[in-house]
Amino acid sequence: MSTNFQQHRAGDLHFLKRLNRSAILESVRRSPGLTRADIATQAQLTKATVGAGVQSLLQLNWLREGELQKSSGGRPGRALHLNDQHFAMLGVEVGVHGLRLVACSLSGEQIASHHEPLAPTTPEITAKRLAKRLQALMTLPELAGRRCLGIGVALPGPIAPGEPVLRLAPNLGWRDVRFLDLLRPHLPQLEGAWLVDNEAKSAAFGEIYFRTGHIPDSLVYVSAGTGIGSGLVEGHHRPLVTRGIQGLAGEIGHTVLQPGGLYCHCGNRGCAETLVSGWSIRASLSIGEDENLVEALLPRLHEDEVRRTLHRAGEALGVLLLNLHHAQNPSEIVLGGSLVQLGSPLLDPALAYFKSNQNRLLGTSQQIPLRLIDDATFIAARGAAAQVLASVIQGPNDLL
Ligand SMILES: [Zn+2]
Repeated sequence: MSTNFQQHRAGDLHFLKRLNRSAILESVRRSPGLTRADIATQAQLTKATVGAGVQSLLQLNWLREGELQKSSGGRPGRALHLNDQHFAMLGVEVGVHGLRLVACSLSGEQIASHHEPLAPTTPEITAKRLAKRLQALMTLPELAGRRCLGIGVALPGPIAPGEPVLRLAPNLGWRDVRFLDLLRPHLPQLEGAWLVDNEAKSAAFGEIYFRTGHIPDSLVYVSAGTGIGSGLVEGHHRPLVTRGIQGLAGEIGHTVLQPGGLYCHCGNRGCAETLVSGWSIRASLSIGEDENLVEALLPRLHEDEVRRTLHRAGEALGVLLLNLHHAQNPSEIVLGGSLVQLGSPLLDPALAYFKSNQNRLLGTSQQIPLRLIDDATFIAARGAAAQVLASVIQGPNDLL
């Protein structure tokens, strides 16, 4: 007869095994090619524990063995890598002007992707369209035979902390939308984790989670597209996204740069988005909602009016970057989004302002790296896929 005590002990053992397997997976994810002895040293586990955990992860197709390697334990051991052939995570970004879909392998490689323009419409129509595109993506030969770990959806607005509700997407006019509830009935066969997050937060998470080798302590991703948002992520093994009590942390597009200035889509006046955003540049240069902003502007970059508009927007972007540096002081800032494709007329004034002012407080010794992503089309979608993987590895359920 089993006692409560025995049940508890059995539960603990099971829990410990799961924790150990998560620790092993996180070690191999961050440093591909580790041997069992290396993992034991890094994760501070016994060799027997690592041996049993690795065996089980090989059988479950999470890991694969590679070449023989010298290890810190003396005897050569097999290099271990993530098995990139067996699982896939789906990631989606619902943008103001389009849908972006990716399927990623465990190491973050994009196995398949799809991008299509979509004019702003209702959440219901968007969910239906997205479900069709996801169904098509899942039947591609690249995904044949793979087990899906789940889907992450990135949306252009703040998400309520602890609740899968999009509070407001000012540039879509959506308010209090449970988007996953609209999507799920169209995809009853899609198992695994279902997650939703703000697009800049998903992007920030993916930028730190899929990185190998040197990993920054913290990272801010700035998403400069139709609107402007940012996401702060801190920590190595279990990166944490800063959300704030209402999910508003990082909503830099609605920090005010000009009190009493132009009206923003959020209803306030003088928000940063009234000075630098896809929608304010469209309004200044009379570019229609149905046109692709970057494609419409690239042939016009020589025009004085275009150059003046982008220069003003670039200076405002520089102010935002500098304010982020002082407000959050991340180890690295990553700038992505469609506006980056407008190139030097927008970026030069932004980067010049940021670089020339970032060290006034602390002298010139420490320049914070700022990395530009030229093509950020799938960055948020890939980040949403990263969040699915993290939730499976670190979550309460057994690894499949
Ligand atoms: Zn605003």
